Amino acid sequence: MASSDKLPFRRHVMARVMPGSRRKRLRWPWGVCCLFFFLGPVNGSTVAQPDEISAMLVRADHLKTSDNPAFVALLGQLHQRESRLSGEQRLLLKYLDAWQLDFLGDYREARASLTAIINDAPHARLRFRAMATLVNVLGEVHRYQDAFVQLNQMIEQLPQVTESNLRWQGLGEIAQLLIAAGQYDLGTDYARQMMDVVPPGETPCKALYFIEHARFSSGRMGRGEPGMQMAIDTCDKAGESIVANALRANMASVQIRAGYPAEAAALLEKHYSSVRHDQYLITILSFDALLAQAYLGMGQSSKARTYALAAVQASAPGEFTDPLRMACKTLYQIDQQRGDFKSALGWHRRYMEADKGYLDDVSAKALAFQIVKQQVQAKKLQVDALDKQNKILQLKQALDRKAVEASRLYIAILALGLLAIGLWLLRLKRSQLQFMRMAQCDSLTGIYNRKHFMSEAEYSLRYAQRSGRGACLVLIDLDHFKLINDTYGHATGDQVLRRAVAACQEHVRSTDVFGRLGGEEFGVLLPECSMDSGIERAEAIRRSVAMLSDQPDPGIPVSASFGVAFTGESGYELRQLLMDADQALYRAKRAGRNCVVAGKQGEGVVVA
Ligand code: GH3
Ligand code: MG
Ligand code: MG
Repeated sequence: MASSDKLPFRRHVMARVMPGSRRKRLRWPWGVCCLFFFLGPVNGSTVAQPDEISAMLVRADHLKTSDNPAFVALLGQLHQRESRLSGEQRLLLKYLDAWQLDFLGDYREARASLTAIINDAPHARLRFRAMATLVNVLGEVHRYQDAFVQLNQMIEQLPQVTESNLRWQGLGEIAQLLIAAGQYDLGTDYARQMMDVVPPGETPCKALYFIEHARFSSGRMGRGEPGMQMAIDTCDKAGESIVANALRANMASVQIRAGYPAEAAALLEKHYSSVRHDQYLITILSFDALLAQAYLGMGQSSKARTYALAAVQASAPGEFTDPLRMACKTLYQIDQQRGDFKSALGWHRRYMEADKGYLDDVSAKALAFQIVKQQVQAKKLQVDALDKQNKILQLKQALDRKAVEASRLYIAILALGLLAIGLWLLRLKRSQLQFMRMAQCDSLTGIYNRKHFMSEAEYSLRYAQRSGRGACLVLIDLDHFKLINDTYGHATGDQVLRRAVAACQEHVRSTDVFGRLGGEEFGVLLPECSMDSGIERAEAIRRSVAMLSDQPDPGIPVSASFGVAFTGESGYELRQLLMDADQALYRAKRAGRNCVVAGKQGEGVVVA
């Protein structure tokens, strides 16, 4: 079938092609790397004869991103010569059409075409390319489960893919998706395999990007590590400025977290114009949001505000990215510092919305990965079970005929095998439930993560409101925690976090909702609790945390500050309670830390 029969090809081209594609501006499903791979050409053509048409196909393949309008014009010419194309050439043309549809954001059409190619293409090579592009398309439309099913098929095909260019691209797509789903070690394994097949004309830049990005995303990257700088230098040398700048954004983020905002600001400012020049939206957003954070950290709030606003304004409506949530948080902090609580509340709302949207998407990817993994295992076991059942049937028939005693024993063994598979399936079901739990809990401390805390606290507040009972929200923030990290190292910091949580848990009841809201910040919702008893309970937790300082191992001074909000004063809306508790916490910090401050007017008393 000629693809122009199906696609309104020329009309489509005239209407949609523009310099700097729409997709580049709006979509960013897998991470900053989503465009690196399937916009590149694959060396050589699948077409055997070096005739005029195959030369045109090869040229088109190479022009896809470097000169998209020329690519589209070539596709038009190829469609005019469609009757002269061989079956294989038509399939390649169809693939290029589908690629362009994906590029322009027509995902439905792109998906249909790619699925047809995967089913029809006689050669593994084109099938593999179509699979890889389809994985990208499924990510664009947030169909993560389908994307992982497709990715599994790609992984199965991988051993047959020997051509270095194709292997490089396939491995890249796999690494990228696994990292986006939080499978950092697995993703890094695939990125390392890329290093063995760097095709001619390529550099290890993208492979190094994945390795470093996985290390960054897993929180294992420290400031000033040489691997990161090496990756940036490699990408700079290769002229891959988008990738180099994406890495710089990661580097700056680590510097800010480590308490070096001025260093981060200098790095970002130095490369700001290059990022603007690349016109790659998500890196622009990252730079703006990180600059805002850095300047806030340096006490330059008006500069911080300008950058944060730029990030918010450039964000596409309805797209919840990490930079958008960072920028909203920064604006909220700036307004709060200025005492403009009305505006702060507005930004806090947008921050919550962006935070929820972003985290929902992140956990959707992680869950999709686990679900597909389980499905594949379950399917394999079911096939095994069927196979065993068949064997039992056949043997039973043989037994009827021969009545051989020994066969009974064999049946018993097979039946046992069947039982074992049944038990294994049961275990699998249990581990599926465990994954659901993992999606709700924080991996370091085992208590609820932010997302789950929010939904449980909302639920508890609705119940309290219906039954007319009061409740308190306590926000807890460890004091000078960065200093602990800086002085004793991150691993000790983690240990302190776990001990602090254990100290809090001594006072948390089964009806309370307790969760980790961020780095060293926790929340406890206390249902059926008056303001006075909320303060008392916060005070008890404070004492327990402060007593950690007496433990000889590791002998570190530990304390926390507390902000308490009460429904009688703030109402039953979680957002308002969070705002009020946060402001009380802010006052507790200002009052000298290691104290509890409650309500809108309360002041803290430092405890020696
Ligand atoms: P303050 O008393 O004003 O709250 O000061 P602080 O140092 O506690 O606050 P700040 O927000 O500046 O620092 C929080 C630190 O917590 C920075 C970050 O490196 C660290 N942190 C965040 N998450 C983790 C984690 O999971 N483990 C460890 N070890 N540190 C973390
Ligand atoms: Mg703190
Ligand atoms: Mg904090």
